[in-house]
Amino acid sequence: MSLYTKIIVMRAVLMIDRVHESCLSNLKYFQLFIISCITYFIFSMPSYAEEEHSSWIKAPFQQLDEFNKKDPAIALDFAEKLYAKSSSKMNNAEKATLFAKMALYCSYLGKLEQSQEYVDTANTFKPKPNSTTGISLLLTQATLLDSLGKAKEAMLLYKQAEQRSLDSENLKSLADSYSYIASSYSLNHNDIEAIKYFNKGYHLFEQLGDDLEIAYMKIQMSTSYSLLYDDEQAIRFANEALEYFLIHELFFDALFAQNALAYNYLRKKSYELAKEAFYQVIELSKKVNTEDYEPGAYLGLAKVFLQSEKNEKARYYFNKYQRYKTLGNTPYEKIDHLLVKAELELNDEKLELAEQALSKVETTLIGIEKENALSVYRQLYDLKAKLATFQDDYKTAYNLQSQARDIQSNYSNSEREKIRSKMKIIFDTDQALLKNKLLEQEKQLNDIALENAQNKQWLQNLVIAIISTLTLLLAYFVYRQLKTSQSLQMLANTDSLTGLANRRFAFNQAEKYLAYAKKTKKDFSIIMFDIDFFKQVNDEYGHTAGDVALKELAILACGFVRANDIIGRIGGEEFLIVLPTASSKQAAIIAERIRAATEEQSFTANNTEIKITASFGVSQLTSKEETFSEIFHNADVALYQAKEHGRNKVVLA
Ligand code: GH3
Ligand code: MG
Ligand code: MG
Repeated sequence: MSLYTKIIVMRAVLMIDRVHESCLSNLKYFQLFIISCITYFIFSMPSYAEEEHSSWIKAPFQQLDEFNKKDPAIALDFAEKLYAKSSSKMNNAEKATLFAKMALYCSYLGKLEQSQEYVDTANTFKPKPNSTTGISLLLTQATLLDSLGKAKEAMLLYKQAEQRSLDSENLKSLADSYSYIASSYSLNHNDIEAIKYFNKGYHLFEQLGDDLEIAYMKIQMSTSYSLLYDDEQAIRFANEALEYFLIHELFFDALFAQNALAYNYLRKKSYELAKEAFYQVIELSKKVNTEDYEPGAYLGLAKVFLQSEKNEKARYYFNKYQRYKTLGNTPYEKIDHLLVKAELELNDEKLELAEQALSKVETTLIGIEKENALSVYRQLYDLKAKLATFQDDYKTAYNLQSQARDIQSNYSNSEREKIRSKMKIIFDTDQALLKNKLLEQEKQLNDIALENAQNKQWLQNLVIAIISTLTLLLAYFVYRQLKTSQSLQMLANTDSLTGLANRRFAFNQAEKYLAYAKKTKKDFSIIMFDIDFFKQVNDEYGHTAGDVALKELAILACGFVRANDIIGRIGGEEFLIVLPTASSKQAAIIAERIRAATEEQSFTANNTEIKITASFGVSQLTSKEETFSEIFHNADVALYQAKEHGRNKVVLA
């Protein structure tokens, strides 16, 4: 439902007088607005305590909320029918919620007694105190008390609702509680506290992302700032709210905001802007088909033209204003228009009419405490002085003017006090906002830094992963390459039949060992051996059997050499053993062992036992100048001698 409708409905219900020194007629709207805002917040609550509700009831509850947006009377009717039809299906929590809603609709429709009854009924169903329904009932009860002028009792309940919302961490209820508290403070002339709570509510609604609530908060805050003489803030908030309402085509609410804005401009003596704003009020009033704001706008325009000394136009709008019969409900409204009238008459030099209007002002002022109406007295004395001047009563004029001056200085003092409080609250609020902003910025910076660090970390991890993969791949390829080259090397260095070193490799190694032996002055010996009559073996048992014999002899010989020794096949049936660090005597002993073992061993090939022998020549490094070829030659000669002397022998060179 629109704010406007709320204003109209509540208007008849609650009229709370309040002094606004310079814009009395704005007060009516302010009061209505505050009340309607309270109601709005109640109505705008979502379904209550959903945790306890069965699923079937969610749809009708939602429907209720929808109806309520249009017209609470429809919502109330629907709710009552729902209860009559389905109460048997409802649990206590649901009944409590339904009655809480009905209580709100009634309070909204001005049926305060019925609202109280529904609150009481809702309470008999014992809703959980900390549930949304429980808190909402508390707030409704408080609003009812507020409307009966029991502000202190109401505040106790509001604060209780705030505490319960905090306890149950129900942010929506908490924001609503702040808003109620603010509105109540505002109603009860404590604008400083009001703004504090508006701010709290405002930031919470902002957190909840509730733009409509924020817009309503803004317009309420605008009014409070206006009452604290901070026109800049008031105008800013009103403009922001107005913009929101216009964009969302909430024209009734826009009308309210526009009206507030117009009065703010008037107060600020921005007459051109005020004029435009009042014109807009009239236009919007026509658009939404209401006359509720029009009289105020006409009176406002009359004031604007009075200030800019266009009496005819001022009178034109004042006459339009006067056509409304329902005016002057409160003493302030009455005074407000009487002052305008008096000034108009004075400007037209209709002194009697002016005097009449001014004395009516004086009569009306009797019931009002002077300090609550300082600006009225100031205007009154000013106008009376002007009248006296017209009547050539300069002495009275002088006295009245000095009275007006005194009031002006009193007024200024009280203004100053208000401005001081205002400054304090603005300072506190701004500090809090600034702190929040700084914290927010810091958080954002931290977030960015964190994100950067995470990105960097991620990139680093990626690079590390890529490098690791590449390294692994490289290592694998290197390993494979190494293996390949190793096996190639092996192939290149190995005799394929026996697996021993081949001639080339055996000679190479022998050269290296010899160089080392020369360098370290250690012994160096070699054994050369050759199978005896191997041709015959081949001839007798076949070439394959000969191969077997070669392989077996290789294995046998390996059993007699150490790991560091080299054993190679250097010809068809010729072998070389290099023994670094061994003397020729030690070499001869080894050669003898191999010879004996060979003679002993029987080789089996083609199921035939083969017996072979071998002849051995042993030589050693004797002088430092000796080359391997020389040592090898010596061994070869020794081997030849072994053959010559009957074979199967070891001969030392
Ligand atoms: P000796 O050395 O006692 O004077 O007589 P021999 O018969 O062993 O000497 P010779 O040099 O006349 O013959 C060597 C034979 O070795 C000739 C060849 O058939 C045989 N031979 C050489 N290489 C291989 C081989 O790889 N496999 C086989 N089965 N026989 C081989
Ligand atoms: Mg031979
Ligand atoms: Mg030979």
